[in-house]
Amino acid sequence: MSNESLSVDPIYADPVFKMAKRQFEIISDHLEIPADRRERIIYPKRAISVALPIHRDDGSVEVFHGYRVQHHLAMGPTKGGTRYAPNLTIGECAALAIWMSWKCALVGLPYGGAKGGIRVDPNTLSAHELELLSRRYMQEMLPFVSPHTDVMAPDMGTNEQIMGWFMDTYSVHAGCAVGEIVTGKPVSLGGVSGRREATGRGVVFLIERALDHLSIDPAQCTAIVQGFGNVGSVTACGLAFKSGMKIVGISDHTSALYDPEGLDIAAADKHVAEHGTLASFPQGERVDPETLLTLPCDVLVPAAVERVITAENAGKLRCRVLAEAANGPTTPDADEILDQRWEEVFVIPDVLCNSGGVIVSYFEWVQGLQKFFWSDTETTDRLYRILETAFAAVIKRAKDRKISHRTAAVSIGVERVMAARLARGLFP
Ligand code: NAD
Repeated sequence: MSNESLSVDPIYADPVFKMAKRQFEIISDHLEIPADRRERIIYPKRAISVALPIHRDDGSVEVFHGYRVQHHLAMGPTKGGTRYAPNLTIGECAALAIWMSWKCALVGLPYGGAKGGIRVDPNTLSAHELELLSRRYMQEMLPFVSPHTDVMAPDMGTNEQIMGWFMDTYSVHAGCAVGEIVTGKPVSLGGVSGRREATGRGVVFLIERALDHLSIDPAQCTAIVQGFGNVGSVTACGLAFKSGMKIVGISDHTSALYDPEGLDIAAADKHVAEHGTLASFPQGERVDPETLLTLPCDVLVPAAVERVITAENAGKLRCRVLAEAANGPTTPDADEILDQRWEEVFVIPDVLCNSGGVIVSYFEWVQGLQKFFWSDTETTDRLYRILETAFAAVIKRAKDRKISHRTAAVSIGVERVMAARLARGLFP
C-alpha cells in the first residue's frame, strides 16, 4: 500500500494533521489495514467551527474563532482537551483528536478522541474577557456536547477555572448541575483532587518504569524538561523530589535554562507561580531553546508543543530515555532516525506517556455520573495499575514484533478503535 493512499480534506490541511496522517499510514501498513477502511478510521466524524463575539473591556466587540473536533463515537462519548493558543487550527485539533482516540483505546477507556479550543493568546485577555470568551465558547458548543456525547478537559492555555465556567454555562442551560460535562474542574464542583497533577504523575511513573526496565537507578539520573506549565512543572517536581533526579535543564516559551550541577526546581516552580514564566528566574545559564534538547541527560521530557524532535535534532539527542509528555513532539522523520537508535534511546511514546491525564479524567467522569467519590489513594492506585498494564503491553508487542514503541502503542490503539467501529457499522 502506498504512503500516499489517503487524501487530506482541505479543512484539515495543517502540518500537525499531516503528521498524524503519516503516522497512521505507517501503522496501517504494519497492520495491513485494507485501503477502503483507512479513511473511514482516520477521518473525524465531525468538526465544528464557531464564531465567538465578545465585548472587550474597552467596549469594542471582537470576534474570536473556536473549534471542536470529535473523532469517533463508537465506544462512548468523545473526550479531549480544550486549547487556547494564538495559532490553533482545526487541522491541529483534528490531529490531537485522532491521537486521543488511539490513546484512550490503548489504556482501555470507553471514549473516542476529541479536541478543541479557541484561536487566542489567553495572556492578552483580562480575567473578565477570559470568562466571557470561555462561557461563549461553551454556549456555542451546547448542540454538540453532553456527558454522553463529548466531555471536555483542560489543555494548553486552559485550567480548572475555565472548566468551572464551562460547567456552569452548560448547567445553566440544563437547569441543573451537570458536573460530568467537563473534567479537570475545581474540586469544589466535583473535580478529582490530583487531576491537575495526573498527567505529570503518570509521566514520572512511566519514566521510573522505563528506567527499571533498563536497570538504571533514577537517583543517579539527570533530566531536562521542555515546557514548565501544568505537565512540565509537575513532571520536573516529581522527577526531582520523588525519583531523586538532578534536573539540569528546564524551559518555557520565554527562556531555556541549563545548569549541569542541577537547578532548584522548587524555586523555579514558585517563581512561575508568582511571575507566570521563567523569564526572570535567576538561576542557570541561558541557552538556545533548540540546543537544550540536545544537551546530555539521562531523561529528556518534551512537555510543551508538537514537532520539536525533528530530523535535524533526532540524531543529536543525548538522552537514554525520551519521555513524550507533550502530544506529537516527534515528527515521523525523526522517528525513522530514533528507530535506528532504538538501543541508545528508549522512547515512551506520547499516547502512552501522557495518558495519566485522560485516565484520571475518566475517573472524574465516572464518579460524577455515579455521584460516588473515591479516595485519593484509590485514584492513584487505579491510575498506576492502568499505566502498568499499558506499559507492559507496549513493551511486549514491540519485542514480539520487533517494532518501535510508538508503532506498538499506536497499533494497539488503532486495532481497538477499528474493531469497535467495524462492529458498529458505518454510523459512529
Ligand atoms: P500549559 O499551557 O500548562 O504549559 C505549556 C508550557 O509550554 C508553558 O510553560 C509554555 O511556556 C511552554 N511552551 C510553549 N511553547 C513553548 C516552546 N516553543 N518551547 C518551550 N516551551 C514552550 O500546557 P500543558 O497542559 O502543560 O500541556 C503541555 C503539553 O502536554 C501539550 O502538548 C498538551 O497537549 C500535553 N498534554 C497535557 C495534558 C494535561 O492534562 N494538561 C494531558 C495530556 C497531554
